Amino acid sequence: MGQAFSFGSDYFMDPYLNARVRFGLRDYFSLDLLPKIPGLYAEEELAPTDFPWQPPEFSGVTISHIHFDHINHLRFVDPTIPVFLGEGTRIMLESWMTTSGRSMDLGGHDWKGFRTGKSVAVDGIEIEPVHVDHSAPAAYGFLIHTAKGTIAYTGDLRRHGPHSQMTDDFVAAAKEARPIALITEGTRVAPTETRQQYSEQEVKTKAAEVVRGAGDKLALVTFYPRDVDRIKTFHAVAGETGRHFVLSAKTAHLLWSMQKDTRIAVPDVLRDPNILVYFRQLTKQDEWEKDMRSKVASKAVDATYVNKHQSELLLQLDFYQLTELVDLKPIEHSPFIHSKSEPFDEEDVEERVRDNWLQRFGLQHVQIHASGHCSMPEIQDMVRAIDPKVVIPVHTEHPDLFTTFGPKVLQPAYRGSMDL
Ligand SMILES: [Zn+2]
Repeated sequence: MGQAFSFGSDYFMDPYLNARVRFGLRDYFSLDLLPKIPGLYAEEELAPTDFPWQPPEFSGVTISHIHFDHINHLRFVDPTIPVFLGEGTRIMLESWMTTSGRSMDLGGHDWKGFRTGKSVAVDGIEIEPVHVDHSAPAAYGFLIHTAKGTIAYTGDLRRHGPHSQMTDDFVAAAKEARPIALITEGTRVAPTETRQQYSEQEVKTKAAEVVRGAGDKLALVTFYPRDVDRIKTFHAVAGETGRHFVLSAKTAHLLWSMQKDTRIAVPDVLRDPNILVYFRQLTKQDEWEKDMRSKVASKAVDATYVNKHQSELLLQLDFYQLTELVDLKPIEHSPFIHSKSEPFDEEDVEERVRDNWLQRFGLQHVQIHASGHCSMPEIQDMVRAIDPKVVIPVHTEHPDLFTTFGPKVLQPAYRGSMDL
């Protein structure tokens, strides 16, 4: 139920040309972007199409983690089909839907939270979620125990992150289950790897150096909004370098929401003296933003405050808030730490626009990132360790490379079925 990042890009160009939301799945079906699967989609989504709604034929959807490419098509799913997801993911998703308005509306669903070690029984099949380390917390792999044997699914995972033990736990559990099939991601499985790859610890060390070197200037950082490990890393960097960490209101809302999850430790946004929260100057604030502002009270800051206290602050600034630079007026040569993956190619629009902003305001671009995914040798090691009967590569641009790993590979065919 995820949405590939290139989904629909042959026909649509956000924000000028998009599928007509008011017609549900009509445009997607007509352009053959989504398959007509009986008993899956919501009545409301099908009403404007020529494909009739019928009662659900699915007993559940399982979600491995919160990333867009793993959840976004839940918006089309019949709301009576239960959605199984990690407790932490459920909490983060609530915050995301609250702070993003209509752009992130997955609709109502029968959410059912799970934890590692608590299996879910659906139609005589037992689904065992096992935590993995990834660039979002509450990420899981699954061991799906069926009458014919166990199918293991990795979700998205890495071994160089701060919780590598979790990935080890998944690999050990998968190996023990002697799976008949392993469905594995392969984001970084490629003939060559050109991007720089750091561990989370290296991100911290390198970022601290940059921030320490910023002197009287403002230090700015951008990262993926739900990468809680990265938020913690920069929280630590701010602490080490004697600066306050200024979070966007959305990130503050996320951390505040996550206080509900006792298993995932996050900085206490309301009490931590080292955290401030940035509020944009808006003509009309959304309810959640007003709420957040009154909760953080004296910790709320604006552009004028940041401009006057540049040497004391490490400010989180998202791509979509680059216009704030107009009011922030950072001192020239202030470092802008880009702590996300580098764009895929030089034609990347986001990169060109970002660079124009940085240049316009004389900011110094610094790339420091740790990936959320295993390298190719790590995937190979994992496949060999688990030693399944067959490997099914997904979430990769180079499924052909998996044939060199050892076990038999079964290539999934788009909209096809597979016999094991
Ligand atoms: Zn992911």
